[in-house]
Amino acid sequence: VAGQPLLDVSGIEVVYGGAILAVADVSLTIGAGEIVALLGANGAGKSTVLKAISGLAAADRATVRRGHVRFDGEDILGTAANRITARGIVHVLEGRHVFPHLTVEENLLAGAFLHRPGRRDLLRQIEDIYEWFPRLKDKRKVQAGLTSGGEQQMLAIGRALLTRPRLVLLDEPSMGLAPRIVQEIFRIIVRLNREKGTAFLLAEQNAALSLAHASRAYILETGRIALQGEAADLAKRDDLHRIYLGDA
Ligand code: ATP
Repeated sequence: VAGQPLLDVSGIEVVYGGAILAVADVSLTIGAGEIVALLGANGAGKSTVLKAISGLAAADRATVRRGHVRFDGEDILGTAANRITARGIVHVLEGRHVFPHLTVEENLLAGAFLHRPGRRDLLRQIEDIYEWFPRLKDKRKVQAGLTSGGEQQMLAIGRALLTRPRLVLLDEPSMGLAPRIVQEIFRIIVRLNREKGTAFLLAEQNAALSLAHASRAYILETGRIALQGEAADLAKRDDLHRIYLGDA
């Protein structure tokens, strides 16, 4: 629907195990085809916000007690994670959860099950992923656990893309990776965004990096949005790190 954001998160409160308040009050929007950054220090609640959106919170015994999450105008709070993915939101978890004993290609095949394409389609889609991530093609026969951290992050993103998402939730894609490989991954994200119109929500501790690639950003501080705005404006603020003590 014209004028309405693709994703609309409003006033959510998220509690672990009925007792630990991880997110107190978070509202954010993502427009169709937009790259938005969610910044904050360790433990600020970034991962929890992503899980509340993707439906994976339930698997961690986390409950969204207040607020709503709307995707394309429809309420998705309480919807099972696999149904949310089928609707067009995919969550790439922090820490690159690839199957270490499967090859790169087997990981991609495993990731495509949700979409249930025919075999010809599937192989074409995997070739498409290899075009975005040529390193994955080079390593297609290699066990994922033996590839580099950067390649595993690319594999996690590539596998997620096989669900044909309109919105990708990316949790700390830069974590533990060398700057050069991080630049390479962010360049691919920006290209995917421009050429396929895929929207991204980037949860990151690295503020400078994320602000350089996003159009808008939200700064999370102990479960609340402390600051929000255009990425270019936020990048100029010298109090950003004092506000949340990130390590960027
Ligand atoms: P990080 O970068 O470390 O993942 P984050 O900003 O993503 O940080 P969260 O992981 O969302 O933050 O954590 C927010 C708060 O919720 C923290 O206080 C954390 O200890 C708590 N928390 C996270 N996961 C759980 C869990 N499974 N059970 C209980 N508390 C949790």
